[in-house]
Amino acid sequence: MTGGANPGPRASRGAHGQLKAEKLIFERSRPGRVGYSLPALDVPAVDAHAAWGSEHVREDLVGFPEVSEVDVVRHFTRISQHNYGIDVGLHPLGSCTMKYNPKFNERLARLTGFGAAHPYMPDELMQGGLELMWRLERLLSEISGLPHVSLQPAAGAQGELTGIMLIAAYHRSRGDSSRGKVLIPDSAHGTNPATASLCGLIPIEIPSNAAGTIDVDGLQAAVDEETAALMLTNPNTLGLFERDIDEISRIVHDAGALIYCDGANLNAIMGKTRPGDFGADVFHINLHKTFTTPHGGGGPGCGPVAVVERLEPFLPRPVIVRQNEGGFRFEHDRPRSIGKIHAFHGNFAMMVRAYAYIRALGAEGVRQVSEDAVLAANYLKERLRGHYELPHDTTCMHEVVFSDELQKKLGVSAMDICKRLMDYGFHPPTVYFPLVVHGALMIEPTETVSLQEIDEFADALIAIAREAQQEPETVTTAPHSTYHRRLDEVLAARHPVLRWDPACTGEETGGDPVGS
Ligand SMILES: *Cc1c(COP(=O)(O)O)cnc(C)c1O
Repeated sequence: MTGGANPGPRASRGAHGQLKAEKLIFERSRPGRVGYSLPALDVPAVDAHAAWGSEHVREDLVGFPEVSEVDVVRHFTRISQHNYGIDVGLHPLGSCTMKYNPKFNERLARLTGFGAAHPYMPDELMQGGLELMWRLERLLSEISGLPHVSLQPAAGAQGELTGIMLIAAYHRSRGDSSRGKVLIPDSAHGTNPATASLCGLIPIEIPSNAAGTIDVDGLQAAVDEETAALMLTNPNTLGLFERDIDEISRIVHDAGALIYCDGANLNAIMGKTRPGDFGADVFHINLHKTFTTPHGGGGPGCGPVAVVERLEPFLPRPVIVRQNEGGFRFEHDRPRSIGKIHAFHGNFAMMVRAYAYIRALGAEGVRQVSEDAVLAANYLKERLRGHYELPHDTTCMHEVVFSDELQKKLGVSAMDICKRLMDYGFHPPTVYFPLVVHGALMIEPTETVSLQEIDEFADALIAIAREAQQEPETVTTAPHSTYHRRLDEVLAARHPVLRWDPACTGEETGGDPVGS
């Protein structure tokens, strides 16, 4: 520990300094050491050269570590301890909704009937899976207030792509070929303009007003007969509900355009209000954020879309139908469909988890998730008031955005504050996003945080604010207690070193030989 500060009891988990002296698995390698023992061969040996041809036979494996089983177990266990995850502590990444996911849902997703189902199984042999998907669609339809749902998209970003493709197909089907623009507020997630561009449409930025919501006059001025859609996030990425949503909806629909609602923030409003009721024509839902699948690090996602009646014919195929005579089947004959957007049926295990989660909570529980998420964010906002600048000082939804305005004057940036939080044993919040707030610290505690933990987190941030005044160098040189010190993030992103190399000391990426 350097800097003379006492970061409190939580820092002990970051104190891995001694591990650095441990040898990595390649360094532990000794010629001939193996991690298995097999009985002596009691059948005739196969002559591999004769059986497969010498060009397919490898005599030796060059460059692989020769280690025992215990070496392997310790290696992977040790590197897992250099990491930080949702099961280690708070992960308050704004917009990402990193919450605790009940382990029971993991067990259900692994039930043999679900986990071992083959995607080529005929419909009649996977009636249980089909029924689960159909029932999940109905639940998401109820929650979103939109009649039809496709579970195919594999992420929020792909849900966005699907949604804008549906809107484009709708305009095309009406012979309306002039609608080439998508209006997007300046606080939107980067995937929104990327989606519009991928669909060959032109993203047009709509400015926010001083309150942080859509500027209605700016919207009115921008919308015209070339507008295909407004892409709207509600509550937006500042954690603010769009109060003028009725007016916004009227302006967009009067111009013949549709509303795409980004639903990554559904955990702030579910059970309270429904996008279908406030004007959304298509809405994506991040099952991995709102509905309990561990996410991050590029793991599987699921971003179902819910749509109004007039977009139903264009949904990805196949769709699941309940038959009059009972049972369920995939309907592939969908001539107006935009086509398939995911292999087979999407990420099925996530649908099992989401279904189990919603059924376990029930209608009241779903509503309470939103209430608790909003309460946690507002409680944190009040605890940090005065210690950090609050650019939009109003009741927030499930996330709150501070800025580094007060600390910047002392030479301490939002990034420094985040690095210092790691010394206190917390994952940093989302930083420098949304772009409309300079030096943003975007915090989403989620509904699964306890009062005790949120207080510890607030205490840490308050202590850092004090350090910024009294000993700014402690903050600007943080982290001090983590396995690797501060990385050069630009270098780590531009020149990631992804393989261990005895010649690589880690200095290239500011300390971490496996990238950041
Ligand atoms: C996370 C997020 C997305 C993208 O979702 P992915 O599943 O990560 O593709 C889109 N919009 C907002 C507001 C988000 O927070």
